[in-house]
Amino acid sequence: MTASDASATPAADSTSSAPARGPAAAGGADSLEVIRKFAETYAQRTGTYFCSDPGVTAVVLEGLARHKDELGGALCPCRHYEDKQAEVAQAFWNCPCVPMRERKECHCMLFLTEDNPFRGEKQTISLEEVRTLTAS
Ligand code: SF4
Repeated sequence: MTASDASATPAADSTSSAPARGPAAAGGADSLEVIRKFAETYAQRTGTYFCSDPGVTAVVLEGLARHKDELGGALCPCRHYEDKQAEVAQAFWNCPCVPMRERKECHCMLFLTEDNPFRGEKQTISLEEVRTLTAS
């Protein structure tokens, strides 16, 4: 399970050796798509669901993509850090974080277990939807 989890992480993407520093990452569109695809795959693999409010999902995905661009790693966007770069290096809160991988605990409400009252029915979200919901 650990190996398959690792292959689903944003950091394990084949383009991630230069995650946010290559020209292709300019503007963040690529990172958002990488993160969106990771989240869909990971939800399906872990049997978890996106929130019934897609705005929550969109904001978290956008925050993860922004961290990937700015820091080179998809650091959890729902926490406060004294030193974000050090946190990325430590990897504990790089998505999927250790609590998610070990206990399916996602405090951002990106990945919700079946018994969570806030979960929706979907494990997919389109790029258009994310963009629309984070536009304002
Ligand atoms: S709580 Fe963990 S799994 Fe959820 S978005 Fe943050 S890093 Fe990812």
